Amino acid sequence: MRYKSKIAFQYLILIFIILVSFSFTPKNSEQNPIFKIPQFLNKKISDGPFFFIQDDNTVVVKWIKGKKAVEKEIKNNNYKKIQRKTGLPVDSDFFYFEEKKNIDLKQEYKNVDKFITLSDIHGQFDLFVTLLLQYEVVDQDLNWNYGANHLIINGDVFDRGDQVTEIFWLIYILEKQAEKQGGKVHFLLGNHEVMVLNKDFRYVNDKYYNTTQLLNVSYDQLYSENTVIGNWLRSKPVIFSINDILFTHAGISPEFVERKITVEQANGKFLNNQYNASKDSLLLFLEKTNGIVWYRGYFKTESFNEQKLDKILSYFNKKHIVVGHTTMPNVMSLYSGKLICVDSGIKNGEYGEVLVYENGEFFRGTPYGSKIKLLTYDL
Ligand code: ZN
Repeated sequence: MRYKSKIAFQYLILIFIILVSFSFTPKNSEQNPIFKIPQFLNKKISDGPFFFIQDDNTVVVKWIKGKKAVEKEIKNNNYKKIQRKTGLPVDSDFFYFEEKKNIDLKQEYKNVDKFITLSDIHGQFDLFVTLLLQYEVVDQDLNWNYGANHLIINGDVFDRGDQVTEIFWLIYILEKQAEKQGGKVHFLLGNHEVMVLNKDFRYVNDKYYNTTQLLNVSYDQLYSENTVIGNWLRSKPVIFSINDILFTHAGISPEFVERKITVEQANGKFLNNQYNASKDSLLLFLEKTNGIVWYRGYFKTESFNEQKLDKILSYFNKKHIVVGHTTMPNVMSLYSGKLICVDSGIKNGEYGEVLVYENGEFFRGTPYGSKIKLLTYDL
């Protein structure tokens, strides 16, 4: 009985924190304008394009125009027509398949002065673009405008909303543009990326049933290994670090540390993940409840505390961990600033924030442009 009342008390505290942070959340009364969302792809395209690589010289591009499927075959990098028809800036440099053996599994970035993180976009292209415009990560034409700084997408682009395809293309293009300016776009796999690639379509927006019917493929086939975005997704990590900050989609559980799993092992497992096929016990652990893309234990105060988080951080020799996945009313930090939660509910399409990092300091960034110093709450 006493145990139960302790839990009830802790839940009350959590609810209090959430209510307090709601009251600090600026609403529409703030003066800064919400941007008009620039046209990204060709207006006539209602979904796609999807690029299917056939061989070294042939790519088949498919998209949905109105209620019809369109299919074009491109030979010998002759992309001009596709660029015109789809609006994607596609040229011979556009596709870059990195050899898996060349991918750095350690994913450690140092001496980064400035970055922006956001998470759990779930098909909400307009809010995503609003936040990128507000913090000048992109210009009005949606080109990279963030110089040598970093942009981090903490996972979960798939599912719920109806502009998933557009978001993936924008991230893909920005990643390439950022590299040319010495900047970096990081994309972390979330549980929804893993679910779709494992053929779990429970949360797929109805729009995509229409797309897959018209194209006569299953949803995961739009992201198979021989597609441009599917191949790109299969090169992405589940954990990386910038300076003394660790990033994962959901979190690192005490069990992850007890099993002595390394960053390289975790990233390597997903890099070689044969989705929807047989998996070894380590990959099964990583994909499930206490694994890196699903864990929610930080928010269960009856079984988690700051000492446990300290152990996890010291295992990686880091000071902070940034996670998405568990939705909060805004970007917030818990456990004396060691845990930073960046899933601020963008998935609902109404409000969402970014985490801004500038020279060692963290801020919440609202869609109206206010930067609020990140306060920490103790559970
Ligand atoms: Zn998630």
